Amino acid sequence: MILISGCLLGINCRYNGGNNLKPELLKLMKEGKAVPICPEQLGGAPTPRLPCEIVGGNGLEVLEGRAKVINKLGEDATELFVKGAEEVLKIAVASGAYAAILKERSPSCGVREAYDGSFTGKTISGIGVTSAILRNKGIKLFTEDKHPYR
Ligand code: SF4
Repeated sequence: MILISGCLLGINCRYNGGNNLKPELLKLMKEGKAVPICPEQLGGAPTPRLPCEIVGGNGLEVLEGRAKVINKLGEDATELFVKGAEEVLKIAVASGAYAAILKERSPSCGVREAYDGSFTGKTISGIGVTSAILRNKGIKLFTEDKHPYR
């Protein structure tokens, strides 16, 4: 089974209430090969919600307690992001997931790039919190633009 960020499947779970539909990924779900996940909603965040970014490190460092996730008002959202990642991990185990296709640059779902924590649109290399927990379990990570499941 493949985990896919829900927003890539047309679910309106983005922070702004929208989605990032990729029709070819929705096809995978319709074929029974994929399940949707949204770690931020699973962590208890409302939709719409304030955008968040990782400060002081990457998603792996958030899991290790060495970096934080903050919202645009500077409020600490780390606990919610870690809870969401743990809930996604439960889905991964229960569904026998071996791969995940995740939305790049999200503080939860980003695989190779992240915003730099300044809320100015600048990106750096870095992994999201959920992506890090999945990678730690040996699940292969892909982005919406570069994956082998066409
Ligand atoms: S947490 Fe992931 S699945 Fe949810 S809206 Fe953000 S990028 Fe999409």
